[in-house]
Amino acid sequence: MLKHNLGFPRIGRHRELKIACENYWAGHIDLITLFEVGKKIRKENWNFQIKSNLDLIPCNDFSFYDHVLDLSLLIGTIPEKYLNPKFDNKMDLYFSMARGYQNNNFDIKAMDMTKWFNTNYHYIVPEFIKEQKFFIYSKKIFDEIEELKLILNSSDKIKPVLIGPVSYLYLGKENDTSFNKMDLIENILTVYIEIIDTLSSKNIKWIQLDEPILSLDLSDREKNCIQYAYRKIYKYFNNHDIKILLTSYFDGISENLYLFEEFFTYIDAIHIDLIEDPNQLDKVLSFIKESNIILSIGIIDGRNIWKNKYINSLKKIEKSINSIGEDRVMIAPNCSLLHVPIDLKYEKSIHINIKNKMSFARQKIEELNDLEKIIKGKNNILLNNSSIINDLKKSNIIHNNKIKKRSYDISDKDIKRISNFSKRQKKQHKAFNLPLFPTTTIGSFPQTKEIRIIRNKFIKKKLCKKEYEKKIKQFISEVIKKQEDLGLDVLVHGEFERNDMVEFFSEKLNGMLSTNNGWVQSYGSRCVKPPIIYGDVSRSEKITTNWICYAQSKTKKLVKGMLTGPVTILKWSFVRDDQSIDQTAYQIAWAIRDEVIDLEKSGIKIIQIDEPALREGLPLKKKNWGGYFNWSIRSFHIASSGVKDETQIHTHMCYSEFNDIIKQISNLDADVITIESSRSNMELLKIFSRFSYPNEIGPGIYDIHSPRIPTEKEIFNLIKKASNFLPKRNIWINPDCGLKTRTWNEVLQSINNMVKAAKIARIKLG
Ligand code: GLN
Ligand code: ZN
Repeated sequence: MLKHNLGFPRIGRHRELKIACENYWAGHIDLITLFEVGKKIRKENWNFQIKSNLDLIPCNDFSFYDHVLDLSLLIGTIPEKYLNPKFDNKMDLYFSMARGYQNNNFDIKAMDMTKWFNTNYHYIVPEFIKEQKFFIYSKKIFDEIEELKLILNSSDKIKPVLIGPVSYLYLGKENDTSFNKMDLIENILTVYIEIIDTLSSKNIKWIQLDEPILSLDLSDREKNCIQYAYRKIYKYFNNHDIKILLTSYFDGISENLYLFEEFFTYIDAIHIDLIEDPNQLDKVLSFIKESNIILSIGIIDGRNIWKNKYINSLKKIEKSINSIGEDRVMIAPNCSLLHVPIDLKYEKSIHINIKNKMSFARQKIEELNDLEKIIKGKNNILLNNSSIINDLKKSNIIHNNKIKKRSYDISDKDIKRISNFSKRQKKQHKAFNLPLFPTTTIGSFPQTKEIRIIRNKFIKKKLCKKEYEKKIKQFISEVIKKQEDLGLDVLVHGEFERNDMVEFFSEKLNGMLSTNNGWVQSYGSRCVKPPIIYGDVSRSEKITTNWICYAQSKTKKLVKGMLTGPVTILKWSFVRDDQSIDQTAYQIAWAIRDEVIDLEKSGIKIIQIDEPALREGLPLKKKNWGGYFNWSIRSFHIASSGVKDETQIHTHMCYSEFNDIIKQISNLDADVITIESSRSNMELLKIFSRFSYPNEIGPGIYDIHSPRIPTEKEIFNLIKKASNFLPKRNIWINPDCGLKTRTWNEVLQSINNMVKAAKIARIKLG
């Protein structure tokens, strides 16, 4: 039984990679120094995995920015415009693709970036031209192999990792509509075969080809491509010593297994994710039973931070061994460990009972070793693991029966507003007396350096609570004044007290904690520190109400209260694994509801519950969407339905793909939804129009992701366009997301243009 790993976090134990890259970009260090940092991180990761007795060590899982971009460089998928400035070295070319490039003569935008399946990791989207040629351009993979060879003194244990050809094409995009990216399969296979051939000639015994798209619902075209590609690859390498481990993760592959049936005898090894889809094991085993295929079972959760339950993993291992024999079984985490923090050792402030139950990347590698020892008879390891997990089953740090009971006891009344939307709308319009096309913003205003310094001083206890609150209040007063001067209709308090929209709530809710060093790569040098939901979640005191009320006390205009929704809090955290996800979501929802009700009681008449993560939480396979929407929509309803008709509930989502979820968005029944639509030039409103979306909408008319200042005329035209699609009285005018990343200079001009455009629209279109 071999133990292996699909990939290790590459940011360094203390985000050394982030620091080095940012220093390199700023011109503070040279390329040699940057490379040294990379080399040190790789060495550390490899040594750890070697020391932990892994039988196969992943290689080429390191990346200076993104592993998809690495592959684009490896096989020469480089859009022409990045080749024009003559860079001194391939790294500068690489970073210009990732981040754009600006100097006197050149102004080249960065390539597109998007989410890696349903994770919070973002990759750089490959861009193909019709005549795309692929050829070996970067030598990174080969260099890293040599590096690891020096450490191991042999190439036997080296397992280079590459995204497979079909997933790579799938993840990319065509630069025009004259062709389909899958047309490129023949071309791309040539270069893959060349790469694998080269690896084989270097005595490499294993290669890992990741084809995560096998976990998706695939079209016939994509299925044909998979079949075509792997028939060719397997047949070509049938007589070689190199073994190909075909991996998939994030969901099951049993629906797509039949694609491999006809060349079944050529397959060396496949890896399946038994965390996301444990039920596929039986089907996969029976499929491969009569062959020589080696099965790698992903039994350690690479997407969460809890200790493995050895007893459950053992069942899967034993079943596999009994079915196909020990020689044909490998064990591993389900996916790359990229999505978890590196080492639990650095966490100093987590309650020891909770910490005992946790496991970061390094601990997960050690768990593989433990599992092997148990198989070999070390029963005490198993007993110890079970007792740690069982100890917590009754612990009152985690469990609170009152909260549990409340989260289950949901009556219809709790999840429904008193009246339907049209009645509520009448009451709200009467109570607020807002003009046509009311203007507002999404919540945050620029987070200046001054604000960050003050928040940091407070966190580090260099500023007392009283002083801190005084400062924040000052910022709030100023931002209220600025919004009044700009002439906005519905004001916000600016969110100056928040570092991050989820972390802020996690620090105030019972049952959640934040880590000291639990960094996970989000994209490039950007890392996030997801909070951990470890116990029953509740709220013991007001979280935002005092700030919002302070803001309201400074103006006669309406101030909108600002909350993060339950689905987003859950999705951007590590979630406990000892109860079902819906129950955890409902607990968070009840806590948010309590805050909503407190805001209402304190006289706040408009409350926004942000759910930017609702869409990304969608399961990869459509068959699982129903279950997801059941609990996610219900959670939103719990959070938002405790108020009277006159209180207006807003929600905000910052993306523009609503085509396949419009019905569910409508089911949320928020009085107002603000969305992103400026980039698509309001095209997305077509779907709201076709669906006859009944409630009010604020289509974002200012793209806050760009420093560009939209002109008054441009905004007016967007409003005009929006009024072709939607009833005018339902339209709000707002930017498409929070303004915290923009400068005050940009915000003042843009919002000024926005308000003026709305005023003109009232006259011309009203
Ligand atoms: N209210 C938040 C803000 O304005 C929303 C952020 C988001 O949608 N990501 O910053
Ligand atoms: Zn947003």
